Amino acid sequence: MSSSVPSSLLPPSPAPSTPRPGGPQRRYKLETEVVYTESPDQYRSSSVPIYQTATFKQASGSEMGEYDYTRSGNPTRTQLERHLAKIMNASRVLAVASGMSAMDVIARLLRPGDEVIAGDDLYGGTNRLLKYLSTNGGIIVHHVDTTSISAVTEKLNDKTAMVLLESPTNPLIKICDIPTITRLVKDTVPNAIVAVDNTMLSPIAQNPLDFGVDIVYESATKFLSGHHDLMAGVIAVNDEKLAEKLFFTVNATGCGLAPFDCWLLLRGVKTLAIRYEKAQNNAQIVAEYLEGAGFKVRYPGLESHPQYDLHWSMARGAGAVLSFETGSVDVSERIVESARLWGISVSFGCVNSLISMPCKMSHASIDPKVRAERALPEDLIRLCVGIENASDLVEDLKHALFQAGALKTDSELSC
Ligand SMILES: *Cc1c(COP(=O)(O)O)cnc(C)c1O
Repeated sequence: MSSSVPSSLLPPSPAPSTPRPGGPQRRYKLETEVVYTESPDQYRSSSVPIYQTATFKQASGSEMGEYDYTRSGNPTRTQLERHLAKIMNASRVLAVASGMSAMDVIARLLRPGDEVIAGDDLYGGTNRLLKYLSTNGGIIVHHVDTTSISAVTEKLNDKTAMVLLESPTNPLIKICDIPTITRLVKDTVPNAIVAVDNTMLSPIAQNPLDFGVDIVYESATKFLSGHHDLMAGVIAVNDEKLAEKLFFTVNATGCGLAPFDCWLLLRGVKTLAIRYEKAQNNAQIVAEYLEGAGFKVRYPGLESHPQYDLHWSMARGAGAVLSFETGSVDVSERIVESARLWGISVSFGCVNSLISMPCKMSHASIDPKVRAERALPEDLIRLCVGIENASDLVEDLKHALFQAGALKTDSELSC
C-alpha cells in the first residue's frame, strides 16, 4: 500500500466523497458510497489487497514503519475501517472479531462500581456479557424497558457510566426514542456514555451517531457482510479521545479483525444497499401477509406497530426482521420445522431467509423466569427475511402454517 501519502497520515475517516472534487459539497447517496472506494494501492487494484501478514519489516533498527504488527494495524483493516467510517458518518471505526467482541471492547470502559442502564429485550449474547460483568466485574446493571423514557431516567444517577440501547429490539421489535434518551442522559450525567447497538437496521436505515450518541456498534456478521460467511464487529465514534481508548483495548487484547475477514467484509459492504432494500421489501410483504392472516405481528413497517411514528422519526427503513405469535409453542415448533426455504437458524441479515424460535435458540441463555418477566412469549417465531422471491417466501410460509395446523381452511391457503 505504498503511495505518496502513507495511510496513517490520512485522516481516519475520509471526507465525504463529492461528485466533483472542489465542487459543491453534495454528498453521494449511501448506495453510491458503499461501492465507491478510494484505495491508495500502488497498482491501483480494484479490490483492496489482503495483507496476509502478521509482521512488517522496519527499514532500519530505529525507523518505525507505518505498520509493524497486525494486532496493532494492518493495511487491509485500515481500508475497511476508513470505508465504514465514511458510511457510518463517523470520524473513526474499529473493526473487531465479532459483534460481541465490539461489545466487550466497549464494556472495558467500565470500572467496578459503575452502573449500566440497558434494555430488557437485549440481544442474548449482550445479556450474557453484562451478567458476567455484574457477577465478576463489580458492574451494576439495570435492565429496564427502554421504550419508556421515564424507566430510563429513573435509574440515572452520578454512578451511571453507560446507557446501552437497541432499536428495534430483538425479537420483540420494540422501539426506543434514541434522540430523547440521549439528550436526557447528557443533561443529567454528562460523562455517561450512550452506546447503541445498530445491528438490526444497519447504517443504510439508521445512523444513531447523527442523534448525538457516543458509540454505535454493530455485528457485521449480519447485514454489513450479508452472507453468513464471516464473524465481525464494528465500533463507530466521533470523539477522538474515546476512539483512542477503544483502540487501546483492541490493540491490548488482540481482537482486531483478521486481514482475510476484513477483505470479505469490504466485499460484502459493497452490496449492502441492494441486499438491504430487497430484504426489507420482502419483509414488508411477509409481514402484511401474516397480519392479514390474523396473526399478531411485530414489524415497524406495519402501521399497527405501537411505535410506528417514533420509529420513522429516526429510521429510513423498517429492517428485515419480524416476529409473530401463534398462541401455541407446539404449533410454532411445527411451523419452524415445516418451512423449507426458511432455514432454521439463529442470526439475521443474510441473503437467505431464516426462521427461529428465540426462546429455544438465540435467547435460550436467558433464564426462563427472566424471559417471562420480560414478557417474551415462548411461542414467538422470528423471521429474518432474505433476498429470495417474495411470493416463493410467502408460499413456503403458508404451506408451513397449514401443515402445522395454524391455518385451518383452504381459503386461507389460497393467495
Ligand atoms: C448478532 C448480534 C450481536 C452479536 O454479534 P456477533 O457478531 O454474533 O458476535 C449483537 N447484537 C445484535 C443485535 C446481534 O444481532
